[in-house]
Amino acid sequence: MDYPRIVKAKCARERRDFGIEFQRMGDAWMASRTFPISQTQATRGFGEQAINNIQISMQYGDCPFCKNNSFFKCGTCQGLNCQGNAVGTERIHVTCANCNNGGYLEGSIRDLKSFDDM
Ligand SMILES: [Zn+2]
Ligand SMILES: [Zn+2]
Repeated sequence: MDYPRIVKAKCARERRDFGIEFQRMGDAWMASRTFPISQTQATRGFGEQAINNIQISMQYGDCPFCKNNSFFKCGTCQGLNCQGNAVGTERIHVTCANCNNGGYLEGSIRDLKSFDDM
């Protein structure tokens, strides 16, 4: 059995770091629990392991800071952010708290690098 994996994310509104736990469900990885992490945890080197076929489960725990209930992957730096700073209804514009690049949401998240030694 696969044990849960942790992926780092940033609150796009408050620019603070949190972790998202992904649980293996069939051939998908479901985002579930979230928890704040320190800046030290966020910047130190973790062992990385890619996970793919990402889904946001009904149990997704929301951003621990602004309570946004979704996240996106920045196309520039590949960092995960909550969607707390999303603007617009049909085309959603978001800005990455990691590298400050902005863009419109498109497609779905597929592959992530995860960390299992936090
Ligand atoms: Zn947030
Ligand atoms: Zn970015």
